[in-house]
Amino acid sequence: MRVPRVIVVGWDGAAPRFAFEEYARDLPALSALRARGSWGPLRSCRPPITVPAWACAATGRDPGGVGLFGFRNRAPGTREMRVATSLDLRAEPVWETLSRAGRTVALLGVPPAFPPPAVNGVVVSDFLAPDPVRPPTHPPEFGEELRAAVPGYRADAVGFRAKDREALLAEILAMVRARGAAARHILRTRGPDLLWLVEIGVDRAHHAFWSAADPGHPAHRSGDPLATAIRDVYRAADEELARILAEPAARDAAVIVLSDHGGKASLGSFRMNDWLRREGFLVLSGLARPGTALRDAPVDWDRTRAWAAGGYYGRVYANGADGPRAVEEIRRRLAGLAGPDGRPIRVEADVPAEVYRGRNLALAPDLLVYVGDLSWRVAEGLGHEDLWTTECEVGADDAVHDWDGIAVASGGPLDGGGRREDLGLCDVAPTILKLLGQPVPGDLDGNSWI
Ligand SMILES: [Zn+2]
Repeated sequence: MRVPRVIVVGWDGAAPRFAFEEYARDLPALSALRARGSWGPLRSCRPPITVPAWACAATGRDPGGVGLFGFRNRAPGTREMRVATSLDLRAEPVWETLSRAGRTVALLGVPPAFPPPAVNGVVVSDFLAPDPVRPPTHPPEFGEELRAAVPGYRADAVGFRAKDREALLAEILAMVRARGAAARHILRTRGPDLLWLVEIGVDRAHHAFWSAADPGHPAHRSGDPLATAIRDVYRAADEELARILAEPAARDAAVIVLSDHGGKASLGSFRMNDWLRREGFLVLSGLARPGTALRDAPVDWDRTRAWAAGGYYGRVYANGADGPRAVEEIRRRLAGLAGPDGRPIRVEADVPAEVYRGRNLALAPDLLVYVGDLSWRVAEGLGHEDLWTTECEVGADDAVHDWDGIAVASGGPLDGGGRREDLGLCDVAPTILKLLGQPVPGDLDGNSWI
C-alpha cells in the first residue's frame, strides 16, 4: 500500500529508556504515534556511530556496504584520520533512488550531507558542515531562502564540549525549534515525497547533561540544576514533531521517528595505545609524557605492529608485514582483558570481513573494538601508567553510545503493528521505498517493516 508522502524525523541518539519510559508522558506526539503505529527498540549498526549509522538507515546496507566506520575514517595509505564526507558513501541512499525515479526529496541535516548531494529537491548540510551556522545547501540559493525563513537555523551546537552548560542548553533548544521551523517551511513550499530531518541536539544533550539526569552516572550530583536538561530537549523535539505533523502537507503521510543509536552513562576511557605498548605491539623509541597524541609520540614504526584510534569505540590498525597475525594476537589478548577493578571485562573485537556483508572495506580498521559493552570510550593518548581513567581526552563527555536506538512508525500499512522487537537500522531504506511504491533492491541488509 502506497502513501503520498513519507516524513522521517531523526532524533540523533534518542534512547529507549528516555523516549519510551522515563519521559514517555512528556512526549505526547511520540506517544500518540506509538499508540497508533509500530514501534520498538531499533538495533543500530556495528559500530553504532552517527555517520555510518545514518548512512545504513539511508541505504539499507551495513557499514561494510556503506564504506564508512566513524565520524573520522583513516585516509588510505596514511595514519591520518579525516572527517567523513558525503562523497565517501559507497552505497546508494534512498534520496538518490527516489531522485532518479523523478520523486522529490528534502533533507535537513541527515549525515553525511557535506557536501550536499544534488538530489531532486533541497538539502541542508549536517553537523559535518565546516561552518554549522551557515551549512551549505543544494541548490546553493536555498541557503538564502532558509536563512530568511528561519534566521536562527544551524546545523549543530557550536563547540558543544566546551561551552558553559546553561548556554549550551539554550543553544540546543533554539536549534531544535529552528530545525522544526525549517521542516515546516519545506513542507509548505516544497511538499516533497520524502522529507527527512535529523535533530542532532538530542545527542548533544546526552553528551553534555547525562550525569545531571541519571542518578546512576558515576559523576551524578543530586540537585544538579540541569537535571531536567535532557528531558527539556526531548520535549522540545516532541513539540516540533507535533507541529510538523499538524501541517496540511503531513496529512496522510507515513511518519517514521527514529534514532541512529542509543545512549548511556560513560564510565570513562580505556587507553588502548598504552595497552598496545604494554603488550609489545606498539614500540616507542623514547619517553612519551602522559597524554601525548600518537602523532606526536616517538613511535618506532619499524618495530610497531599495531596502533589504535579512539572514540566511542576503538579501532586497531595493523602495521607492517605480519598484520593479520598481529590482529589475531590482539584479539585473543583483548578477550582476556582485565577491567579497571582487575576483573575480566567484556570486550568484543570485530574483524570487518567476518561481520559485514558489504565489501567496501578500504577505510575499515583491522579490528573494531567495543569495551565493556560500549560503556568505556577508547583513548588514543600515550604515556600513562594507568590503562583506565574516568577522564575523556577530547573534552567533557557524560555519555557514550548504546546499541539500541528507537523507532516509531505510523501511517498506512504501519498502523496497528504495536511493539516490535525485530527492528533494525538497515530496514529504514526498504521501508521508505516500499511506502512510496518504489521497487526495493533484493540484496539489501535490512527488511521493510511492511
Ligand atoms: Zn548519532
